[in-house]
Amino acid sequence: MRQGARIAAAACLAAAVLAGCGVSGDARSIGSASIGSGSNVPGSSSVLTPEATAGSDSAAGSTGSTGSTGSTDANGVARSPGSTDSLAASDANGEEVTVVTDLANRRLAALIAKDRTAWLSTVADSQDPFGRDQGDTFDRMSQLPLGSLTMGGVSVGPGDVGGVQGSVARFHIGYRFTGYDRGDRTFEVAYAVAKGPLGWRFTGVAADQAAAQPWDLPGMTVAASATSLVVGDQPASVLQAYLALADTGRARIAGVWGSAVPAVLVAPHTTDELRRLLGRTSAAGLDQVAAVTDGPLAPGAPATGDRVYLNPVTFAALTATGRQVIVTHELTHVTVRATTTRPVPTWLSEGFADYVGFTGSGLGTATVAADLLDRVRKGTGPTGLPSASDFDPTTGEISPVYNAAWLAVTRIAQTHGPAAVLAFYRFVAGGPEPDPSVRGAPDDLARAAFTAVLGTSQDAAVADWLAYLGRLAR
Ligand SMILES: [Zn+2]
Repeated sequence: MRQGARIAAAACLAAAVLAGCGVSGDARSIGSASIGSGSNVPGSSSVLTPEATAGSDSAAGSTGSTGSTGSTDANGVARSPGSTDSLAASDANGEEVTVVTDLANRRLAALIAKDRTAWLSTVADSQDPFGRDQGDTFDRMSQLPLGSLTMGGVSVGPGDVGGVQGSVARFHIGYRFTGYDRGDRTFEVAYAVAKGPLGWRFTGVAADQAAAQPWDLPGMTVAASATSLVVGDQPASVLQAYLALADTGRARIAGVWGSAVPAVLVAPHTTDELRRLLGRTSAAGLDQVAAVTDGPLAPGAPATGDRVYLNPVTFAALTATGRQVIVTHELTHVTVRATTTRPVPTWLSEGFADYVGFTGSGLGTATVAADLLDRVRKGTGPTGLPSASDFDPTTGEISPVYNAAWLAVTRIAQTHGPAAVLAFYRFVAGGPEPDPSVRGAPDDLARAAFTAVLGTSQDAAVADWLAYLGRLAR
């Protein structure tokens, strides 16, 4: 790891990639399913992977939601429960869908009523490993401010359950953390289901349910303020410290952006837990990332349920200042995503998140941008604004790229004033309500903003920024 303040900067940046991506245009337009939402939703996970970057963090949601939340109707529900014994073979799946719908609805009702016994009545054996885990899961979920709970999308089909083929029930659960989320998130559950002496019951977790939810963290506890929710399986004192970082970060963001939305941070204890929360099959690239912001993001709409996932290894290695910078950076993404409706170039989203993140950090430019300035001195510095692919942590060192983005935004503030930075950003990103009259790719809108907002041209501003980098590197 790098040392001191530079660690903070680099990590932050890296972290930003993921997070930021979401903010970036690519992210919004690309979207995968919502990661957030979904646990198993393909694509949601990939923040770090190249394609992920694209959508990743951001992504997560781009398409919206994963799911069909909302409805309690499941496929096949319309079928008459009828007498199962007489169902023809072709109707057998209809019976399974019907009983699984009933089981899933009973679980949802039990969760809402906080009725542990009713919850466990949907599993075959509350004392076997799966049943005990279900009890623990209920206890963890009961600690959280779960609201707007819905169920839908029920299907039943063959699947791998512990290496054995069996029937797998799948359905979506919609929820929000009341007081923190402004919209619902959806995730998919994939459980083995079988008919035993007591009737149909859930018997295990399907092998392909890869993504985890915050309440799947073993030993999960919660630290919360009115505006920040921290969920994790780290010691309570650590979660409290992260809560303080979040509240301080929100205050800094409000001071720059004018407002800060409530935030949800997830603090796993291991890298593998982080990988599962992100729905990824590999941890590749995570070592360059201190945190990831992810959540459903629909085109033309503000984000309503982002999560900031802290990487336990890289985040713990940061200095105290670095941790604050990272959390402020990520929460900047959360607030910006929640209050704008258009994607922006990655250099702008990441540069702005660092611009806010380093505000008040006490870190000087030579320290924060050391990696970039080293390159400038060697003659290998940038020749233009960073592209989205430059921020991909799987293809190279991203710290200098974040430095470059940060100094591009910082230079706008130096030359035109802090208010111009906000005007520039909002020109490109729009406000909380979509404006159909504004069209154009993120890069084109940014180019237009240099003229419309700053009274210059992008080419002139880039030339000025490159000259500025040259002076800093002397
Ligand atoms: Zn970022």
